[in-house]
Amino acid sequence: MTALVFGHKNPDTDSVCGAIALADLKKKLGEDIAAAVQGELNPESNFVLKKYGVAAPKVVTSYAGQSVYLVDHSDLAQSPDDLGQANILGIVDHHKLGDVTTSQPLECWIWPVGCTCTVIASMYKYFNVAIPKDIAGIMLCAILSDTVIFKSATCTDKDKEICAYLAEICGEKDLPGLGIQMFKVKSAVEGTPIRELVFRDYKDFKMGGKGVGIGQLELVDLSIVDGIKADLAKDIQALKKEKGHHSVFLMLTDIMKEGTELLIASDDESVVQKAFGVAPANGKAWLKGVMSRKKEIIPPLEKAFA
Ligand code: MN
Ligand code: MN
Repeated sequence: MTALVFGHKNPDTDSVCGAIALADLKKKLGEDIAAAVQGELNPESNFVLKKYGVAAPKVVTSYAGQSVYLVDHSDLAQSPDDLGQANILGIVDHHKLGDVTTSQPLECWIWPVGCTCTVIASMYKYFNVAIPKDIAGIMLCAILSDTVIFKSATCTDKDKEICAYLAEICGEKDLPGLGIQMFKVKSAVEGTPIRELVFRDYKDFKMGGKGVGIGQLELVDLSIVDGIKADLAKDIQALKKEKGHHSVFLMLTDIMKEGTELLIASDDESVVQKAFGVAPANGKAWLKGVMSRKKEIIPPLEKAFA
């Protein structure tokens, strides 16, 4: 049976392009494998696939009885609900090690770099497989997206080195220009339902035994959401109730000013002060220089909740 490779729930560009690229590599290494996604693509991912003429993976939400590879996550909360009934062949990721476990040995590539596609591009090199032009293009975009055009605290020299290598293969000359183009697509909020914006890049966590949801909107200018900020704040309050969470946060990240306005819905707002040293006012806090959920939001919050 064909194995499937997929990224996390609410797929982002790294999860989509990482799945496509790993499936391409594994196929060339002789495996019967296809890419999948756990949900509909966001506008940025659609833009990227269209730009390089790559077909979107099939949406698959149930994996019981399947052989699978995970990319861009190793957390059960980000995985399909029936992952326990799947046979995990491998994980390629760049997050902290999650709580996924296996009953058999697996192939594992987890590096502390800015993007899963940086690891996958390195795997192509390791296995001495040529990277097709279109795959190089979408992996390049995934790295620019995950590293916020190299500005994120998660970006490493390895990410930059791999980007230069991929840019050469796909003939892309202006990486900052390409990055801004993508983030403009990502920033577009007009006509999008509020809940969809909250969920665009949203993840659930358990911190100190409490449910915590954290969403992020990366914007080329914070003013883009001026008109809907009150609705976003209201909606994360509603979402917190629906999920029975202790807290739901929405990061409004200004990638040009390099900072994040944190919208807060919490049973105890003092966790924000504890985690970031900033006192919230009216359910908001400005976190200067903070752009990365993974590196600058989750670790201090986990400490504050512990
Ligand atoms: Mn991701
Ligand atoms: Mn990623």
